Amino acid sequence: MGKKISILIVLVLSFTRIWGAGNIYFSGNSNERKIALTFDDGPNDTSLPKILNLLKEENVKASFFFIGRNIKARREEVKRTYDEGHLVLNHSYTHSNFEKVSQDIIAQEIEKTNSEINNIIGVVPSLYRPPYGIKTSSGKLAAKKMGMDIILWNVDGEDWSSKKSVKEIIETQKKQTKNGSIILMHTQPDKYTSYEALTVLIPYYREQNYQFVTLDELLKVNAYKN
Ligand SMILES: [Zn+2]
Repeated sequence: MGKKISILIVLVLSFTRIWGAGNIYFSGNSNERKIALTFDDGPNDTSLPKILNLLKEENVKASFFFIGRNIKARREEVKRTYDEGHLVLNHSYTHSNFEKVSQDIIAQEIEKTNSEINNIIGVVPSLYRPPYGIKTSSGKLAAKKMGMDIILWNVDGEDWSSKKSVKEIIETQKKQTKNGSIILMHTQPDKYTSYEALTVLIPYYREQNYQFVTLDELLKVNAYKN
């Protein structure tokens, strides 16, 4: 009897570990000198390949949140991202503002993007970043229903803004980064300030003895459901 119960507990625990449970993360363990670079809004065939080239040269692994509706036209870039050891994760299907959107619609967007990703690389993400980082109760419930954890950030150099210079992005990121940081960056089409900042920031973080890890390692969660 006792044995059966403990087997059941082990089973339940392993399921909760395999499937995200609607948890929200802003950062990882502050006692470890690890950081995760994360890139939103791809895939594309402009800034994404440039950043992938740089990460390859520097031997850095990162985490990418892709927009579902862009995926079909950029299969090659999605496959390359995965094959080069980065995480391919979910950033909704349409990248709409979900502030007043129902749980069902958000869940459908998560599902569609997961299925686009699965069609190309054969894995189903369990990490989701809502567009604009907007978290509402329906968004949280949708993520939980879909077995996803929500990933936000604690470093934002505002590389998404056209008003920010490369220098400003670098300075802000340097100031905000600490042990366990999740760093928000972007691969926007035809926009290269993120790339330029990264050429300076990667050597800087190395000098500061930070180790670059992917989100699953930083947060000790699974990136995929399978
Ligand atoms: Zn975005």
